[in-house]
Amino acid sequence: MQSDMQTQVSQSQAAQSQATQSPVPQSPAPQSRTPQPKTMKAAVYKENGTITLEDRPVPRLKDPQDAIIKVTLTTICSSDIHIKNGAVPRAVPGTILGHEFVGIVEQTGEEVRRFKPGDRVAVNVETFCGECYFCKRGYVNNCTHEHGGWALGCRIDGGQAGYVRVPFADNGLTRIPGEVTDEAALFTGDILSTGYWGASLAEIKPADTVAVIGAGPTGLCTLMCARLYGPGMIIAIDTSDERLELAKDQGLADVGLNPLKQDVEQEIRKLTFGRGADAVLEVAGGRDTFQMAWKIARPNAVVCVVALYEEPQILPLPDMYGKNLVFKTGGVDASCCEEIMKLIKAGKLDTSCLITHRAKLENIMEAYDVFENKRDHVIKYAIEVT
Ligand SMILES: [Zn+2]
Ligand SMILES: [Zn+2]
Repeated sequence: MQSDMQTQVSQSQAAQSQATQSPVPQSPAPQSRTPQPKTMKAAVYKENGTITLEDRPVPRLKDPQDAIIKVTLTTICSSDIHIKNGAVPRAVPGTILGHEFVGIVEQTGEEVRRFKPGDRVAVNVETFCGECYFCKRGYVNNCTHEHGGWALGCRIDGGQAGYVRVPFADNGLTRIPGEVTDEAALFTGDILSTGYWGASLAEIKPADTVAVIGAGPTGLCTLMCARLYGPGMIIAIDTSDERLELAKDQGLADVGLNPLKQDVEQEIRKLTFGRGADAVLEVAGGRDTFQMAWKIARPNAVVCVVALYEEPQILPLPDMYGKNLVFKTGGVDASCCEEIMKLIKAGKLDTSCLITHRAKLENIMEAYDVFENKRDHVIKYAIEVT
C-alpha cells in the first residue's frame, strides 16, 4: 500500500510540475482583490527566545510565483514552541511565526496560474519549487530551492498575521471547496499532512495492530489517518487519560494506554499474541518515547518516527539486534494536500474535535501561554484574523 501511495505522490508531483511548465496564455499581472492596509498585527519570534505581537508592514509580492494571502484563520503549533525554545536552529529571529493557516488569495504574481484573487485556500507548511530532484519524487521537505521545505513561519514570514506572502503559490496552496469551512480546512497543510504522511510510511495493512505514541494534536491526526488504511486495531498511547478518552470517543483509537499507569510494552504484547505492534508511529517526542517505540514494535515492524525531539536520542543497536526493525524518520513531505482536502470534503477526515479554543489574533499572546503550558484542556486554537 505504501508503494502505491508513493507512486501516486510522484505522479501528482510530475503532473503538477508539468502544469507549471506547460504554455498558458499570459495573464495581466499582478492581480489583486482589494486595497490593502499598510500595516498588520503579527506574532514575531525574537532573538531572546520570546514571542511578541507587533505591527508589521503588509507583505508585497517579490517573485512572479508569489501570492499574497489574507489570513482568515490561523493556529499555534507545537513547532512554534520548539522555535521559541531554540530547538529549531534554522529558525530566523525576527520572523513572523505561523505555518498552519487558511485564507483568501489577495494578490497573485504574474506566473501564478492555478489561483486568482478571491480564492479560498489552505496553505502548505512547506514551500517547494515542484521542479527539483526531490520535488519530482514528492519529497518536498527537501526541495533544494532556497525557500524550499519548511520556510514559512521559520525562515520567512508566516501566517500568524493579517497577510502573508506565499512563494511558489501554485504548489503551496490548496483550494478549499465551498462546503468545507475554514475550521475544517485549518490543519490541512501541517498536522493533517503529517498524520497522512506518517500513516503512509508505516506500511499499514488490513488487520494490522498500529500503535501511535502521542495523542496530542498531531497524534490525533495520525490516528485518524492510520484509520484510513483499515487496520484491525489502533492503540493510542499518551500520559493524558483525557486525550486517550477523546481518541476513543471519536473512534480514532480502539485501545488507550497510559504509560504513567500501565506497562505499555507488556499490555501491547497481551493484545498481540506476544508479538508487539505491526506498525509504530512515534509522534510524542518525549523523554522516553523513542525507546518505547522500538520496544513495543514486533520484529520486522516499521517504526515511523514523526516526532521532533528537543534532545538527541540513543539508538541501542546491541539491544535491538535480531529484531530487524525498519526505521523511518520525519519531517513531513506535505505533498498530498489535494487528497487530504478531498477526504475532508467526503467526511473521512474530521478534525473538529481538535479545536478546543478560539481567539482573535489580537489575543494570540494569551493563546500562546495557554497552549504552551497545556492549560485549560487545550488541544488546538483556531485564531480568527479580522
Ligand atoms: Zn507545525
Ligand atoms: Zn524543489
